[in-house]
Amino acid sequence: MTPQEAVAEASRCLGCADAPCIDGCPARNNIVKFIRQIAQENFRGAIRTVKESNVFAGTCAYICPVGESCEMKCGSKLDRPVKIGELQRFVAEYERENGFRKFKTLPPKNKKIGVIGAGPAGLSASFYLVCMGYEVEVFEAAELPGGILTYGIPENRLIPDVVKDEIEFIVQMGAKIKINSPVDDLNKFIDHYDAIFIGVGAYGSVKLKIPGEELEEVIQAQNYLKRRKIAVYNNQKPDIKLGSRVAVFGGGNTAIDAATCAKNDGSEDVKIYYRRSINDMPAFKDEIEYCKTLDIEIIEYMQPVSFQGENNKLKSVTIVKTKPGEVDQSGRQRPVMIEGSEFFIEIDSAIAAIGQLPTFENTDIVDVDKKGLILIDDETMKTSHPKIFAGGDAVNGGATVVKAVADGCKAAEGIDALIGKS
Ligand code: FAD
Repeated sequence: MTPQEAVAEASRCLGCADAPCIDGCPARNNIVKFIRQIAQENFRGAIRTVKESNVFAGTCAYICPVGESCEMKCGSKLDRPVKIGELQRFVAEYERENGFRKFKTLPPKNKKIGVIGAGPAGLSASFYLVCMGYEVEVFEAAELPGGILTYGIPENRLIPDVVKDEIEFIVQMGAKIKINSPVDDLNKFIDHYDAIFIGVGAYGSVKLKIPGEELEEVIQAQNYLKRRKIAVYNNQKPDIKLGSRVAVFGGGNTAIDAATCAKNDGSEDVKIYYRRSINDMPAFKDEIEYCKTLDIEIIEYMQPVSFQGENNKLKSVTIVKTKPGEVDQSGRQRPVMIEGSEFFIEIDSAIAAIGQLPTFENTDIVDVDKKGLILIDDETMKTSHPKIFAGGDAVNGGATVVKAVADGCKAAEGIDALIGKS
């Protein structure tokens, strides 16, 4: 958007008193206020308003599912919703072009917080804690900070420089990030800090558990996306070679990203197979539409049952048709395999994207549910341990960036309420 277009679009906002758009945003971004500031050409004020609740304003402006959140709730009296996402992107880009402005921090509290994981949850907690006057040390297992922003979401949807600049801003504000520093034993960690935030994500892969999965050409989507992104960060061509015929199994954003990357990287025939209906796919609707523009076919009610190889090389996959069965815990109909419906197709590569798993291991210190997700108090993000807080995918099993950011912000408030006055 140009400044004139942004002002014109912002002027369409009715400024509803009950602001349903804000209810649609997990970070409770003050949308009415920042849009009013844009209409008044106060672009600096607008970006500041967004960052008061979402330090990853620019990142989220690219990848938030706005059509399913804030914009969906907007404008019952308008012919179309205000383009909240594009307006946020406009002010975030305005700041990137004109320089980031630091937030004022409160006087030092002489208290130290340890943050585990430099994904959006951990970095958001770090930023708001630094603003409150805490000393913050972030421990990141990988060689780059950013979590899935850096290692998962492809560059065609999220420009790497947007993420780099926003992380750099958090570092400039005072958060100290230690890369290549996994925290494996919380016991050794706890005593060094007044409070701890865990934001380790849930980036383990669920296996298909079918014969032939061990073949080299059958790849986990997370590994594929990560290897590609590392190459992109190093300004190299992705070194992970897929064949021309690629079958992707899954129905979430990871499946879609893997399929679109495969296609954009040169594979000719890419198909997604999903065991439920397209309407049941957890992927964002506009991402599903994007697949269609790339001629990626999504075939519903299909489940792989085995891979076949020849001389240790993948040759084909056997697929069985499914039909909807009884409603399961997720509220969707459980897919039931149709006997005798097996068929096989020849493929060169297969990508499995059927779910994320928590990787958090210190379950003796912090209570987790039966899936391994960390249990928290929703109001404060406090875990069962009196000085440990948690948020993001490690708690919800995989949601959105804005949810992880909101959790980090809420946890910072929870930590401050606990130790800020002592
Ligand atoms: P992560 O982003 O996973 O970050 C966790 C960090 O902790 C990582 O850097 C990891 O290395 C580090 N870590 C792990 N264990 C340790 C340890 N023991 N010690 C130190 N560090 C550790 N959401 C959207 O809103 N829009 C999208 O378009 C979108 N697309 C997605 C596409 C893909 C392929 C995937 C996988 C997810 C997508 N999501 C999207 C979801 C979103 O990325 C996540 O919900 C979000 O990144 C979760 O943030 P987090 O900080 O909890 O975890």
